[in-house]
Amino acid sequence: MGAIVAIVGRPNVGKSTFFNRLIKRREAIVDEVSGVTRDRHYGKSDWNGKEFSVIDTGGYVVGSDDIFEKEIDKQVELAIDEADAIIFMVDVESGVTGMDEDVAKLLRKVDKPVFLTVNKVDNTQRVADAVEFYSLGLGEYYTVSSINGSGTGELLDALVEVLPESAEEESELPRFAVVGRPNAGKSSFINALIGEERYIVTDIAGTTRDSIDTKYNRFGFEFNLVDTAGIRRKAKVKEDLEFYSVMRSVRSIEHCDVCLLVFDATRGFDGQVQNIFWLAQRNNKGIVILVNKWDLVEKETNSVRDYTKAIKKQIEPFTDVPIVFISVLNKQRIFKAIETAVEVYKNRSKRVPTRKLNDVMLTIIEKTPPPAYKGKYVKIKFCTQLPTPYPQFAFFCNLPQYVRDPYKRFLENQLREHFDFTGVPITIFMRKK
Ligand code: GDP
Ligand code: GDP
Repeated sequence: MGAIVAIVGRPNVGKSTFFNRLIKRREAIVDEVSGVTRDRHYGKSDWNGKEFSVIDTGGYVVGSDDIFEKEIDKQVELAIDEADAIIFMVDVESGVTGMDEDVAKLLRKVDKPVFLTVNKVDNTQRVADAVEFYSLGLGEYYTVSSINGSGTGELLDALVEVLPESAEEESELPRFAVVGRPNAGKSSFINALIGEERYIVTDIAGTTRDSIDTKYNRFGFEFNLVDTAGIRRKAKVKEDLEFYSVMRSVRSIEHCDVCLLVFDATRGFDGQVQNIFWLAQRNNKGIVILVNKWDLVEKETNSVRDYTKAIKKQIEPFTDVPIVFISVLNKQRIFKAIETAVEVYKNRSKRVPTRKLNDVMLTIIEKTPPPAYKGKYVKIKFCTQLPTPYPQFAFFCNLPQYVRDPYKRFLENQLREHFDFTGVPITIFMRKK
C-alpha cells in the first residue's frame, strides 16, 4: 500500500515546480466533476528506496484568488483526511501572507506530520529571510529551491522517515474497490452487494492509520470493501470540489487488490473510464470490468461479443481482463461479478513454482528464441517469479538489453496462456546472468 504525500499552499509559491522535481512517473487521473483528465498533479516518487504518491493539491484549485480562499479550507482538510504527510509550501520572496496564516491555523490542529517548506531559497542570502516563517507556529521549517534543487534532499530524508512502510499489507482477505465515473452505478452496486448492514462483519480498524476497510460476507465469499465509508459519505459532499473524488479514487485504488471498474453501458467505455483503467493497471492492481445498466441496451444477437471486442480494442495490449455484463437494477450477475473478482484476486496472488515455470517457459523459449538483434543472439537460461505481492517475473540471460518489447509481450502472453493471470498486470524483467 502506497503512502500519500499532499503538497498544499496558496497559488504561486512553487508547488507544481516542486512536484515536477519530485516525481518520476505521472499518473493520469480523472477529474470526475469537471470531466477533465488531469495528468499533471499525481505521480509516484521515491527516495532512499521508499516509494510514495505525491498529490499537488494546487493543481485542483482553479479560478481567481477569492475562489481559492473559499476552497482552501476544504483543500487542506481533504489533504489532512487523505494524506499520510503534508508538505505546506510557502514562498520566501513574498514572505508570510494572510493566506499562509489561514492554512497554518488549520495545520496546527493536525496530528499528521506537516513539513513547513520555505521555497525559492535559491541562495544563502535568502536562508536568513526564511526565519519569519517561525511566526506560523509550526516549528522548524525546511528551506528549498524547487528551481535548483537545493535543500530538497534534507526535506525528503525527513519525509520518508515518517511515512508508513510501503510494503503491501498481508491481508488474507481480498480487498476490492469499486471505481468508476459518477452515475455509473457504483453506489447502487455496493448497496446491492452489501444489502443490509447485517452483511457487514466488522469495521476493521486500520492497521496503519484510519479505517478504510469494511469486511463483508456475501454470496459465500468473504472480502474487504475498500473505502465504503468514503462512498457513503460521498452523498453528503455531492457538489464538493473535484479534488475530493480524485483523492478518493486514487486512494481506494492504491489500497485495494482488485478494482471493480463500473461503467454505464449507455455511455460507453470512454476516455475517463479508460484513465481509471490505466491508473489501476499502472498500480499493478487486479481489474474486473463491469458493464452496468445492461438492461437499457437493446440487444441483438452479437451485442455481448461486439461490446467485448470494442472494449478490448481500447485496452490493448492488456486485454486479458474479464468483462462482466451486469444490471444492478435487476440484480443481474452481481454474484458473477464478485465471483470473478475473487478469481482475479487469486490470480494476482498466484505463485508459480520455479521448477514448473522453467519446464514450461524454457521449452517455449527453445522453440521460439528471442530474434537476433544487431547481430547478437540472446540466450535465456532461467526464469523465476519474484516474491512480490503481484506477478513479476525475471528472465536471466546473457544480453538482457537486446530483448525487445515484442518478445517480452510474447513471454507475457505465454505466461498468461499457461498459468492464467486473467485480470492481472504482469511485469517482466530481463536480468543479466
Ligand atoms: P504553484 O502555483 O504553487 O504551483 O506555483 P508554480 O510551481 O507554478 O510556481 C510559481 C512561480 O514561482 C513560477 O514562475 C516558478 O518558476 C517560480 N518558482 C518556483 N519555484 C521557485 C524557486 O525555487 N525559486 C524561484 N526563484 N522561483 C521559483
Ligand atoms: P454512482 O454515482 O456511480 O454511485 O451511481 P449511482 O449508484 O448513484 O447510480 C446512478 C443512477 O443510475 C441511479 O439513478 C441508479 O438508479 C441508476 N442505475 C444504477 N444501476 C443501474 C442499472 O443497472 N440499470 C439502470 N437502468 N439504472 C441503473
